[in-house]
Amino acid sequence: MKKTNVSIFIPHIGCPHLCSFCDQKSISGAVKAPSASEVRDVLNEQAEHLLKNNISAEIAFFGGSFTAIERGYMESLLDAAKSAVDKFPAYTGIRCSTRPDCISEEIIDILKRYGVTAVELGAQSMNDEVLKANERGHTADDVRNASNLIKSSGIELGLQMMTGLYRDTPENCLYTADEFIKLSPKTVRIYPTVILKNTKLGKLFESGEFKSFSFEETVELCAKLLRKFTEKGFRVIRLGLHASADVERDMLGGTYHPALREIVESRIFLEDLQMRLFDMEKGKYTVYTDPKNISKAVGQKKSNINALAELGYEIKFRPMTGEYILIV
Ligand code: SF4
Repeated sequence: MKKTNVSIFIPHIGCPHLCSFCDQKSISGAVKAPSASEVRDVLNEQAEHLLKNNISAEIAFFGGSFTAIERGYMESLLDAAKSAVDKFPAYTGIRCSTRPDCISEEIIDILKRYGVTAVELGAQSMNDEVLKANERGHTADDVRNASNLIKSSGIELGLQMMTGLYRDTPENCLYTADEFIKLSPKTVRIYPTVILKNTKLGKLFESGEFKSFSFEETVELCAKLLRKFTEKGFRVIRLGLHASADVERDMLGGTYHPALREIVESRIFLEDLQMRLFDMEKGKYTVYTDPKNISKAVGQKKSNINALAELGYEIKFRPMTGEYILIV
């Protein structure tokens, strides 16, 4: 059975802050907050489609700071979601995203009462200076405290980080990953900064004060982050913002690419292959790899083949089930 999320965007209304990078309107593509009855309608409608296609789904409240929205409204949305989970077996759980300083024991009790199965914290960085420079309004310790509360309640913990924020460095991002690993989240999302119009970052970008990491720096860094998390057994469930016409329209700078994860995975493959080729003579080789790796191996627009050719290795990739890199 395939798994998916039915995402319900709750725009900026829940959030007591305005972070440097945030223009919820562009990111969520939604302006109006849905009512509980609208949520019920969507979930009823989707349930039929899920059932027909043998798909199971979690109901995901994303987009703002879910646990910071007005209590009665939050509970009405949770109630709509819980009714759908109780009624339709296709729904397997409820997840939400929120700010680290909007989690308390009381909030956890409410979430548990409605059967919330996973909470994702928008941590963004574990460096207090970066958090401050980007007007997050919380500290790294808030992330630690909220993470521990979530985990000890039995709810699944997800952590989200950003790369290339104002005053950020690649070293800070690697430190953030190490601190995440200490908190042992079930899932991680990595979002390279996209600089949007009508944000503080947008103004800093336009004034020349800030430009974030380049595309190449981001790919290199994200390859390190993805390696770090996956080697320790942590699941990175998202790398890069979802493709969005709103973001494409309002983007001033930073890194956005609909196939960013594929590009990063392709870079990891290239690095691994280069390591193996390191002490081999330059020349022509055939590299066997599992069919699912072939497009990563070749790279977008043959970027890996071309990079290796520049180093003197003329490589042909051939499929071999179960193999990662076999050089012949
Ligand atoms: S906490 Fe989230 S919703 Fe609120 S301003 Fe920051 S990024 Fe936007």
